[in-house]
Amino acid sequence: MESKIWLSSPHMGGKEQSYVTNAFETNWIAPLGPHVNGFECDIQNYLSQGSHVAALSSGTAAIHLGLILLDVGLGDEVICQSKTFSASANPIAYQGATPIFIDSEKDTWNLCPEQLEIAIKDRMSKGKKPKAIISVHLYGMPYKVDEIHNIAKAYNIPVLEDSAEALGSSYKSIKCGTFGDLSVLSFNGNKIITTSGGGALVSKDIKLKEKAIFLATQARDQAVEYLHSSIGYNYRLSNVLAGIGRGQMEVLDDRVSARRANYNHYKESFKNINELQFIDEPDGYFSNRWLSCMLTPSAEIREGIRTSLESLNIETRPLWKPLHQQPIFKDAPQYLNGVSDNLFEKGLCLPSGSNLTENELNRITSAIKTYFRA
Ligand SMILES: *Cc1c(COP(=O)(O)O)cnc(C)c1O
Repeated sequence: MESKIWLSSPHMGGKEQSYVTNAFETNWIAPLGPHVNGFECDIQNYLSQGSHVAALSSGTAAIHLGLILLDVGLGDEVICQSKTFSASANPIAYQGATPIFIDSEKDTWNLCPEQLEIAIKDRMSKGKKPKAIISVHLYGMPYKVDEIHNIAKAYNIPVLEDSAEALGSSYKSIKCGTFGDLSVLSFNGNKIITTSGGGALVSKDIKLKEKAIFLATQARDQAVEYLHSSIGYNYRLSNVLAGIGRGQMEVLDDRVSARRANYNHYKESFKNINELQFIDEPDGYFSNRWLSCMLTPSAEIREGIRTSLESLNIETRPLWKPLHQQPIFKDAPQYLNGVSDNLFEKGLCLPSGSNLTENELNRITSAIKTYFRA
């Protein structure tokens, strides 16, 4: 059996270990320290736009704190893109709130502006205005930023931008992770850069950053004794892991280029296979191509490709199963147009790591060409 090709594996740049060694040498083995502050500065400089960044233990923790800062609580409703990873919506449930799932549009596979507006009006007519909108840049492709934020503004509903998959992407030359009232990044092991586990909450308001850090460090009031007037969390990023993050930030642009090159390689290799389709970037959209995805003609063909690659030790994965189809969320209110169900049936994510070798890419493309006898 040839060696395993992973969907998206960690890719260290080389400097990470020296930052980690420095953390050991200075004994900053704690969820605070110079690397945590340095990593936050690195991200702030990268995103620009006056961003303030709080480094946290995961992207999920960042979404949870984001919802708390937007005052989402028991019985509230929160709108969420249905076509996404479950971590986009789980924190809604942590708060005792109800997710309202919205389908995708075909151009970017993200939140459909029409369904969004229908849902807002319908929820309001039922007497409940949604507390927040969670909008996702799926697989690194920016959502329709202008349309979504115009609707959100018109109804005065804050947007929590889930940019967990889109660090390095941009819309009209502005970096993803800077569009939301609050924005979320993830540095999980499979993301474009990783700290093994980690995340960040981004805000233009330094007070929100400070509040996020306060909540993430057990909500200790200013007092000599341990005094608490609100519920706290243990969500801060470790200084050791932030050291990995500092090394990874130095190579982020290379990682984006490599992932985009993977996508172009696949698109070019399959240009004569009419059954396979890719989505291009609309004008003004720049995707980090975190995962390269393609659409096949049917669920059967998608499964055929997936299992034949699996037998060659190549990992692929169907597109995210829409959350409105998940057993845990199936009873939640939902506003659908069929797009995300259709994408789930036909779509497949291909190996997309920035560390894929030429030989590995060729193994993948030949296997798929063999499947189609092309
Ligand atoms: C990975 C991911 C998250 C969660 O991030 P973690 O750091 O793994 O907790 C949230 N939303 C989306 C869209 C993701 O892909």
